[in-house]
Amino acid sequence: MPDKIIRGITASPGIRIGKAFLFKGTKVVIPKYHITDAEIQGEIERFEDALAKTKKEIVGIQSQVARSLTKDLADIFTSHLMVLEDPMIEQKAIDQVRDEKKNVEWILNDISLELIKSLDSIEDDYLRERILDISDIHKRLIANLQEVEHTTLAKLDEEVIVFAAELTPSDTALLDRDNVLAFVTNAGGKTSHTAIIARALEIPAIVGTRNGTSNIKNGDRVIVDGVKGIILVNPTKDEIRDYVTQQQELLLLEHELSKLTHLPSVTLDDTEIKIFGNIELPEEMSQIQDHGAEGIGLYRSEFLFMDSFLSDEETQYQQYMKVVNFFYPASVTIRTIDVGGDKVYGFTEQYKERNPFLGCRAIRFSLANEDMFRTQLRAILRASHKKNVKLMFPMISTVEEIIWARKITNEIKDELRKEKKDFDENIQLGIMIEVPSAAINSELLAKYSDFFSVGTNDLVQYTLAVDRIGEQVAYLYNPVDLSVLKMLQLINESSIKKGVPVSVCGEIAGEPLYTMVLLGLGFRTLSMASTYMYPVKRIIRSVTIKECEELVDTLMNIETTSDADSYLQNYVREKFPNLVK
Ligand code: PEP
Ligand code: MG
Repeated sequence: MPDKIIRGITASPGIRIGKAFLFKGTKVVIPKYHITDAEIQGEIERFEDALAKTKKEIVGIQSQVARSLTKDLADIFTSHLMVLEDPMIEQKAIDQVRDEKKNVEWILNDISLELIKSLDSIEDDYLRERILDISDIHKRLIANLQEVEHTTLAKLDEEVIVFAAELTPSDTALLDRDNVLAFVTNAGGKTSHTAIIARALEIPAIVGTRNGTSNIKNGDRVIVDGVKGIILVNPTKDEIRDYVTQQQELLLLEHELSKLTHLPSVTLDDTEIKIFGNIELPEEMSQIQDHGAEGIGLYRSEFLFMDSFLSDEETQYQQYMKVVNFFYPASVTIRTIDVGGDKVYGFTEQYKERNPFLGCRAIRFSLANEDMFRTQLRAILRASHKKNVKLMFPMISTVEEIIWARKITNEIKDELRKEKKDFDENIQLGIMIEVPSAAINSELLAKYSDFFSVGTNDLVQYTLAVDRIGEQVAYLYNPVDLSVLKMLQLINESSIKKGVPVSVCGEIAGEPLYTMVLLGLGFRTLSMASTYMYPVKRIIRSVTIKECEELVDTLMNIETTSDADSYLQNYVREKFPNLVK
């Protein structure tokens, strides 16, 4: 028996064995004390050491970001280095330590505050953005002065399994992929954006352990079982041996399934099911293509703006073109930014809301910040000139929103025509259906939409009034709740009646457990992370539509969600023991 078993929710599958690393984030405490004449030299040396260490850290992060993400994101750190290497600031700190005989943390704090205050009063966006750099450098310097352990997960010295109370989506996107074997968080649910990024990066992850971090010490040996959603703390030798075998079996299964790449995605009764990819970061492109996807069904464009201010039109255009060219002639559905909710960026901080998921999120944010929206639309439309781009608006909840968004899009088209800039005149404009009001009004919304994409992550959240990242209520979050099944049925009926194509791009599209349910409900296009494309395709190729429909009929006649859930789990597990644990 292990010392302890921690339970959570699998966010990204896989098994990893390794050493625990407790990530506490950066809590900056500034010690303030006076020093004696004899201590001055030592204090200056402490400062020089911390400065050198911080520079090294930033250069490391910068090259890692350039390697694994994009060069543009890496450039963010150039300005960090410029501040660190500014000889005037360095000399000022040294002089003040000498003159004022205060400890260096105190001096640095005063200098940073002074710099921030002077920048804050300048009417220049570029300079104001440097405030963030200064406060980031300040935190790093203080942490290094106090020899606090890593404050970021972007660069680690050895392979570890990270345990944290919480990780933001951008913390996750910047993880040191060479050294983070897996991660475990107290907070979060399966459809949080942190979980989505973990799947995109193919890092096994368990979220929603509630108090996982209090059951772990740095250096504990742990097994992360991202199949069952458990963590074994200090397992026995037998348990380790057993898990090493399971790990090898998973690899073999993946290898076996990879043979499906070029086989058609059709059911036994010859119904074709299209599989598209969901993309957040450019580095996922080849994984998605290697898994045989037909194109991109959901490009979550907001991840371009992570850790940075909203980029200009040209930068965005270049980023979209990377994906558009890569998949050409296959289609790429670019969704305009869905910020807010659990995706809080510097530029969304103006909206401090009591219920962020019910607030100024997604299309609401874009319509409230029309200049940003227009810039993004210009970039997407220009990227459509090869005619393989579709444009999609997230979280439409009223008819007015789609009318408004279409109107602005038409204005941008006029602008581009006048400027003689190329774009696809017939670009398709679609909407995400992820709010109950949109599902109920889907027939009407079809009038204004060239296609629908069902965002089940949010549809489940909003239908059942369950926070998709809330671990306390995670037990209520269930896609087979009768109300959700009815919503999905309704959307599909509207799509058929109005001749508007529909796909499903929420996480259940890529969960083998729900493949038969979605097929039985009538969906024929699924968009998902590459992780589960093979298992889903294997299921598609082994079932008939008739049996899927019968399964849905049975589920819709079960009264309680827990009974429906157990029925489905048993049914699919029995039929596909290797694919659904
Ligand atoms: C969804 O809600 O299902 C969806 C695909 O959008 P996101 O997960 O980005 O909110
Ligand atoms: Mg959504």
